[in-house]
Amino acid sequence: MKQFIVIGLGRFGFSVAKTLSEKGYDVLAIDKDEGKVQELANIVTHTVQTDATDENSLQTLGVSNFDVAVVSIGEDVHSNILATLILKQLGVKHVVVKAQDRLHGKVLSKVGADKIVYPERDMGTRIANNLISSNMLDYIEFAPDYSVIEIQATDKMDGKNLEELELRSRFGVNVMAIKTEDGLEITPEAKQIINRGDVLIVIGNNKSLEKLRSF
Ligand code: ATP
Repeated sequence: MKQFIVIGLGRFGFSVAKTLSEKGYDVLAIDKDEGKVQELANIVTHTVQTDATDENSLQTLGVSNFDVAVVSIGEDVHSNILATLILKQLGVKHVVVKAQDRLHGKVLSKVGADKIVYPERDMGTRIANNLISSNMLDYIEFAPDYSVIEIQATDKMDGKNLEELELRSRFGVNVMAIKTEDGLEITPEAKQIINRGDVLIVIGNNKSLEKLRSF
């Protein structure tokens, strides 16, 4: 089972560490602030109070034995970058880092970060999309220009099956799953009838999804 290190236990890091631990994974949670460490002491497997910019200390903790490290130091960009660099140099295979903005993200990719996340920006986009669309319930962008969205079946879909709706040929999107009042259908077949109140989970290009939403 994968083992994780989470460095910087602000709201983001705390939430990552707690969720991983609740899912049954081993987590080493690190912060330079003893109070933050104490908050997680009874929740995750190991907690350590140390400065993550201290290479010796990370080496002593055996960070290279962990599969994934998440660097969620926020405001202190210098420490965020330095900790990322040290983790990569010590051989951590997959390092995920929270960035403040694009420029910070660019520097992080230069020092070897494997994945850069922008939680505030992404959550803002997600909430804005939810607010402006009457039938879109949720949205996840998983690559530039491509997303998975949850939409409420429109009136035009009511009573028709997927074959009749021809969403693939008309819009170039794929229905991955359908939530009905009976539960979740994760392998919807061509003959599956869509009813008012059903929720479609659809993958596609953002422009195509936009067209589908106003169908
Ligand atoms: P949030 O996730 O709450 O939005 P934030 O982006 O405001 O957090 P900070 O509060 O600046 O981020 O940092 C998150 C945590 O990282 C803090 O608990 C802080 O003590 C810790 N931290 C900062 N620098 C270091 C460091 N060099 N080593 C270890 N932990 C650090």
